[in-house]
Amino acid sequence: MEREALLSGLVHPGDREPAAGPLRLVQAFVNSVDSEHGPDLFDDSQGLGEWLARNGMPADVRPDDPATAREVREALRSLLHANNGAPRDPTAEAVLDRAARRARLEPVFGAAALVPRATGVDAAVGHVLGAAFASMLDGSWSRLKACPRELCGWAFYDRSSNASATWCSMRVCGGREKAGAYYRRRRAASG
Ligand SMILES: [Zn+2]
Repeated sequence: MEREALLSGLVHPGDREPAAGPLRLVQAFVNSVDSEHGPDLFDDSQGLGEWLARNGMPADVRPDDPATAREVREALRSLLHANNGAPRDPTAEAVLDRAARRARLEPVFGAAALVPRATGVDAAVGHVLGAAFASMLDGSWSRLKACPRELCGWAFYDRSSNASATWCSMRVCGGREKAGAYYRRRRAASG
């Protein structure tokens, strides 16, 4: 995928509408990499800095920040796989708990939101985690899913009436791997 297309946050396979409200920030964070073809915007400080600026959270990026951002991103993606039928991932949940503590997320009653008290990239990641947490409370979270095709993992918002969508795009991913094979493999993996 073109780097600019990835940065724009406007790429939505299958012509799906993106998530609404703050959850859209979570979706954009997870979709900061084209896992199959590249690039990964969080590969280096410059790319992470660009993504943060484009998403209204400019921050000074330190050398360790890209690796941390990638770890949090993949932990979020793991939760989105769980929203799509994969087993829960306690390791990923622990990664997010640690990132929330680094961000010093605090409830702010005037905003009815979790707000990060840290600075820099920790705070930006905190905004993403605060948005994810809020959407868990308002019920929209379970519709943000990761595409299960091995090389894809794209985050999409499932607006189908019974929340039954599995693939980011039936044409791009659903056609390459049948749901039956996917679920057989999942069952084998989880024993
Ligand atoms: Zn896909």
